[in-house]
Amino acid sequence: MIRFEQVSKIYPGGQKALTEVNFHLRKGEMAFLTGHSGAGKSTLLKLITVIERASAGRVFIGGHDIANIKRGHVPYLRRDIGMIFQNHHLLMDRSVFDNVALPLVIEGFTLGEIRKRVAAALDMVGLYGKERHNPIMLSGGEQQRVGIARAIVNKPALLLADEPTGNLDPKLSMDILRLFETFNDAGTSVLIATHDLGLIARMKYRTLTLRQGRMIGGESDVAMPVN
Ligand code: ADP
Ligand code: ADP
Repeated sequence: MIRFEQVSKIYPGGQKALTEVNFHLRKGEMAFLTGHSGAGKSTLLKLITVIERASAGRVFIGGHDIANIKRGHVPYLRRDIGMIFQNHHLLMDRSVFDNVALPLVIEGFTLGEIRKRVAAALDMVGLYGKERHNPIMLSGGEQQRVGIARAIVNKPALLLADEPTGNLDPKLSMDILRLFETFNDAGTSVLIATHDLGLIARMKYRTLTLRQGRMIGGESDVAMPVN
């Protein structure tokens, strides 16, 4: 699903964010990406969604080399990736329905199809019936679930999460991870960037570790079943 080969990223100004990173996330695999603040986690995710581009090396997503992908093809790539953020980036003056429907509206689905898919996505995250609420009326955990519903409403092959539990207590954090697990069980590949080591320790997934831009652990996937 994701393959990095000798990937380096140096920001304009000379800040080295990633150095010769190699790793592979298999189709249908779920893994954690960890490391201290500044280790390069966000940068690695930004290379996958082409918010930033690699300075050297090759990035493959679903078998396609995206290091030099044309600007016009980026929206097609992103359509297959669901992105979840710590601060969930919700539109607070719009309804839950409008927030979750956004990716489908952009793709030009009919209203009937949008209603059906939004209801299904909200059902999956346990928010069925909250379509007409404003996110502002919901708890932090519920707001994060709206962000997750929006990320999966398109049925993407890959889910990326950047500190998805950063603002949540341990119980709610575990609930969110269990939710990622259900998507993973349904075949979605999942990569979760977090520095919450307590949370990682309670799950059985592979952990990729970055230190000062270098991958220092978890890059080997020999223990994973071949598919
Ligand atoms: P993490 O997500 O693990 O906290 P980041 O990927 O945000 O790490 O940052 C890795 C390094 O790259 C840090 O030293 C950070 O200051 C630097 N960095 C991140 N984004 C930029 C940018 N847009 N311009 C310059 N330096 C950046
Ligand atoms: P977070 O910790 O929530 O990922 P950050 O504060 O690290 O957020 O980064 C916020 C934004 O600023 C990101 O888009 C990141 O790429 C950018 N950024 C981070 N470090 C630097 C830096 N040293 N110079 C310029 N931009 C940076």
